[in-house]
Amino acid sequence: MESNPLFAAGFGLMGLGAGLAILRQGSVRGFNFLYRQMLVDLEIASKDKSYAWFLEWMSHHPARSSRHLSVQTNFKQHDNGSFTTTFNLVPGPGKHLIKYQGAYMLVKRERSGRLMDMNSGTPFETITLTTLYRDRNLFTSMLQEAQERAQKMQEGKTVIYTSYGPEWRPFGQPRKKRPLDSVILGENVKENVLKDVTDFLGSSKWYYDRGIPYRRGYLLYGPPGSGKSSFIQALAGELDYNICILNLSEMMLTDDRLNHLMNHCPERSILLLEDIDSAFNERKQVADQGYNSGVTFSGLLNALDGVASAEERLIFMTTNHPEKLDPALIRPGRIDYKEILDNASEDQVRRMFLRFYEGEDELCNEFIEKVKLLGHSVSTAQLQGLFVYNKGNPQGAVDMCKFLQK
Ligand code: ADP
Repeated sequence: MESNPLFAAGFGLMGLGAGLAILRQGSVRGFNFLYRQMLVDLEIASKDKSYAWFLEWMSHHPARSSRHLSVQTNFKQHDNGSFTTTFNLVPGPGKHLIKYQGAYMLVKRERSGRLMDMNSGTPFETITLTTLYRDRNLFTSMLQEAQERAQKMQEGKTVIYTSYGPEWRPFGQPRKKRPLDSVILGENVKENVLKDVTDFLGSSKWYYDRGIPYRRGYLLYGPPGSGKSSFIQALAGELDYNICILNLSEMMLTDDRLNHLMNHCPERSILLLEDIDSAFNERKQVADQGYNSGVTFSGLLNALDGVASAEERLIFMTTNHPEKLDPALIRPGRIDYKEILDNASEDQVRRMFLRFYEGEDELCNEFIEKVKLLGHSVSTAQLQGLFVYNKGNPQGAVDMCKFLQK
């Protein structure tokens, strides 16, 4: 048989085939071995905060090659309050290559076809970064850079969060911080509240040593348009905090969800419960109509009492009708500090007028006299409306004063 050239060739080919197969298997194993030894992966899931930061960072990273892009539309607020739209071309699903500090990284963005994030209705996604094992430390510095970039975008801004199902989501783009001196309140009101809040924020040890939950509740009450919301926004800006607004009248809100939300506010944020009286007044009507009745009053009390986060918790509540509030809600521990923000006093009218019309002291006096003649008080919001209407025209504001209604 050995002398048969046909058989010899056949064996030769078989041997070659087997050899190649072994080689192929070997190379696959070798590749996997090398992959495990030399490469390192990092996975970022879309649920994680770093996910959005990384996409944003990558869309501005100069050394990248992407052939699949996705568009991300942003709204930007200008100093005059107007908005413009900008587009970010972020890496879309697929593979991308970036060079970061001399190292190459493969970025794979994948969408899970089956799994859905039930809260947002968007598919779950992951980004996998792959680089050489020796460059693994770059992951940390890259994520830090992405985080710093995101923070810088929020600098000088206040992020407003609203509840979205069981979680907090930023509502629109971060807003420019409102300066505290743009809110004109009664004498020392701002200073006193600010002092109380800063005292509280500096007293964590005092609370922990005594085993008291580290939280403080504030109630701002008074007629509409007296600056309650504006003041809280300015205060948040001053403290470099964000605001989480919770609307208790919301139909979908249940006691459990309220409790969960109140215990899971983003760090450094003020929890704001607006028009706290109306939630339960409206509730009665709603219940009569046979709808889901949402949050109960005792649910709110439990949630307030149960707020126990590792961090400090500042809770602000506002109402136009303090007399409608149940005494159980106003007791210390739930509301520790109350402050009335009333219609404009004479001093507020003066400061407000001169803020809009600098140096117009004479007309200011005339305006004050006219306001007195109205025979009723006016809100600071009404004054603002009048002054905005008569922008740069103090005489116009004086003339139109008589139209300020009760
Ligand atoms: P409230 O929450 O008491 O109903 P807002 O803070 O929403 O009042 O005020 C409504 C508008 O009136 C805002 O545009 C705000 O700028 C203006 N405003 C109301 N009160 C003041 C005030 N004390 N100082 C400056 N602006 C005020």
